[in-house]
Amino acid sequence: MKPAKTAPIPIARRGLMLVISSPSGAGKSTIARTLLETDKQIGLSVSVTTRQRRPSEIEGIHYHFKSVREFERLRDADELLEWAEVHGNFYGTPREPVEQAMADGRDMLFDIDWQGAQQLQDKMSADVVSIFVLPPTMTELQSRLHRRAEDTEEVIATRLANSRSEIGHWREYDYVIINDDLNTAFEAVQSIVRSERLRRDRRHGMFDFVTKLLEETPAL
Ligand code: 5GP
Repeated sequence: MKPAKTAPIPIARRGLMLVISSPSGAGKSTIARTLLETDKQIGLSVSVTTRQRRPSEIEGIHYHFKSVREFERLRDADELLEWAEVHGNFYGTPREPVEQAMADGRDMLFDIDWQGAQQLQDKMSADVVSIFVLPPTMTELQSRLHRRAEDTEEVIATRLANSRSEIGHWREYDYVIINDDLNTAFEAVQSIVRSERLRRDRRHGMFDFVTKLLEETPAL
């Protein structure tokens, strides 16, 4: 007869703050979307922005679109965990949903630039895992921006010009992925998430589990 299994001790863990940055057009948003669709343990931090809504974007899903005045009110009331000016618009991370997710041990994904990544690292370094996504070539980056066809030529030119300084921050990230092939890049992100979830320092229930494990004396 098999020995009865004791009820497993749930091994709670701290939530991950997964930060993904890249220059516009490197494929970060597609990677982020695929991750959210395939991994139900992770939620998106929906940023506030003063940028114009693109035709494909939905209020509250992609961003919370705000006037500059509303943005400044949120920022001055300390309701943003981080904020930055990117390509001439303001972007920021609402504080409350992140604090709630961390308190519940839920993982969160942040599609934010290097300035935001730096601020989160400074404030919550133990929980942050950061990934920088690079395009395979600058020519490919440019054609991806054109292919998206949701921005004006002027906006594309600004984004391309800014991409060089953004790429200059790649060393500040824990992981760097070259997005030559979307599937391969996505698999790399998945393996980072899987491994980071297993880190000993994120698993507070582990001590009790091991204590119980060692108390058990298997019958001969
Ligand atoms: P887009 O206008 O293409 O949606 O975003 C432009 C840039 O702003 C991207 O690099 C994006 O990651 C970044 N961004 C989006 N939301 C935030 C945010 O809340 N904070 C910061 N710092 N950057 C953001």
